[in-house]
Amino acid sequence: MKQNNYQSRNGVIKSVDQLNGAIMLSHGEIRRIEKITEDHPMAVTPHYLNLIVPNDPDDPIKKMAVPSFAETSLEGSFDTSGEKENTKIQGLQHKYTQTALILITNQCAMYCRHCFRKRLVGVGDEEIAQDWPAIINYIEGHEEINNVLLSGGDALTVATEELDTILSRLVRIPHLNYIRIGSRIPVVQPCRINDDDELVEVLKRHSQAKRIYVTTQFNHPLEIAPESVEAIKRLQGAGLVVNNQAVLLKDVNDDAAVLAELMTSLTRIGVVPYYLFQCRPVSRVKDAFQIPLADACDIVDQVKAKLDGLSKRFRFAMSHRTGKIEILGREGDRMFFKYHQAKDPALISKMFSREIDPHEGWLYCEDEDDEGLLPCQE
Ligand code: SF4
Repeated sequence: MKQNNYQSRNGVIKSVDQLNGAIMLSHGEIRRIEKITEDHPMAVTPHYLNLIVPNDPDDPIKKMAVPSFAETSLEGSFDTSGEKENTKIQGLQHKYTQTALILITNQCAMYCRHCFRKRLVGVGDEEIAQDWPAIINYIEGHEEINNVLLSGGDALTVATEELDTILSRLVRIPHLNYIRIGSRIPVVQPCRINDDDELVEVLKRHSQAKRIYVTTQFNHPLEIAPESVEAIKRLQGAGLVVNNQAVLLKDVNDDAAVLAELMTSLTRIGVVPYYLFQCRPVSRVKDAFQIPLADACDIVDQVKAKLDGLSKRFRFAMSHRTGKIEILGREGDRMFFKYHQAKDPALISKMFSREIDPHEGWLYCEDEDDEGLLPCQE
């Protein structure tokens, strides 16, 4: 898949030497970044670099962009939501009845250190869509699919003409109601939208045939920079609806005041606060970013107490192997859950509760083979 040329043209930082020239790194940091980037590349856009306070060791923006020591931990799994088992054709996943997910690129403008697709972003393209006739045939043959999510990698890093071709194929499928584009470009590289009239025109043209939603990911109010607000306005002006799926991240936004400001600011600029996700137990991510479920629940309760109705529309959920599980709340060690979406349709809307260890950050089954039976294991 051809990529847009903004990455090279706009001086994205990809090496430790480039980064050290921009923000002072210690010898320890340099060695660690060199080691980690052998397996998981780093890319920091100039826009995102400008959001970092260079001398602040606790800068939340830096934490999302620059590898940390905790990223050396392999605890967890590289595929926590069972993407492999839901893949029908290379690059096409069909887990939930109505939704097809297509991985259209393994490239991103920035490689977020907390990415749950760390196994593939900037690395290999073995999971990326290639056989488009087969993919279109699959969607055409499954009339229960009413929407397609273009993801990756970052779907808006794909060259405009390629995106045009993909959208042209999809908008012709009658049973699709809408198309979603998963992208952090409005956050990390808004010039891709602000400086590219052709991209906005392509999105506008196709959104007249089918509604297009952009699913983006602002995690911290400092990310809502004027350039990002402008990018959101351009997408909205083209007729697109922008939703936000934030991730709850340790030392980034695990604070009620920060999250409340994020949700309020999103609502002010017309971005729908759609989900707040519990960080998945992904290898190299879990130890760096995941907080315990009990703490997460308390933070979300505090956030909701601070917010008006529109700003607290988001669901606090976990993308589990068995489905999307809404985390409803807790009483002591007992936590309450409800399936919002499920691989097995019989589980949708099922509620269940569990005693959760106060240090535990995820729902696990005692027996791996029992994962489809989570609600029965109270
Ligand atoms: S832009 Fe999305 S896919 Fe890419 S690294 Fe960030 S979270 Fe992962």
